Amino acid sequence: MNKAVFIDKDGTLIKDVPYNADPHKVVLEPGAGVALAALQAAGFMLIMVTNQSGVAHGYFQEEDLLPVFDRIQELLGEAGVQLDAVYYCPHHPAGKTERYRQSCICRKPRPGMLLHAARDHHLHLHQSWMIGDILHDMEAGNRVGCRTILIDNGHETQWDFNAFNTPDFRVPSLTAAADTILESAQNKAYGNFL
Ligand SMILES: [Mg+2]
Ligand SMILES: [Zn+2]
Repeated sequence: MNKAVFIDKDGTLIKDVPYNADPHKVVLEPGAGVALAALQAAGFMLIMVTNQSGVAHGYFQEEDLLPVFDRIQELLGEAGVQLDAVYYCPHHPAGKTERYRQSCICRKPRPGMLLHAARDHHLHLHQSWMIGDILHDMEAGNRVGCRTILIDNGHETQWDFNAFNTPDFRVPSLTAAADTILESAQNKAYGNFL
């Protein structure tokens, strides 16, 4: 069994540019490369999970996402790290195109992408983590037994708490999120289970 860190894309791994499909506008969050490299070195698979309803809304095509994902890998490569997998949800219940107009199980806060990843990569979800910048990310992670870290960077504005979306940790940055995971892994090594 493997363990993973699930990472939201917009506002978590890269700067949030709403509905962006231009690879030139991709900018990593500060410290992203170093943070992810440290997590990978500690044995975590790195899996990006992202809602891309711009496809359903007709703002861009599904294949337009690939150059954006490639650019993220290119930028991470400069820090010597690569994502192991990327999952995206192109759907939206109010989408313009019938093909993508659905109330799917993959759009966060639903956990479908995490479940697909767990199946594809033999993940132990209780040893895995979800990092995101809004409560929907927390809910997707919590619903499948991951530990969850909210990057409290002002992107969540609703704070609409329910039984599933309370993060286990709230931190100011991706760097701090990685530190939290690595500390926890270290505590575990000394038998101090969280
Ligand atoms: Mg986000
Ligand atoms: Zn979906």
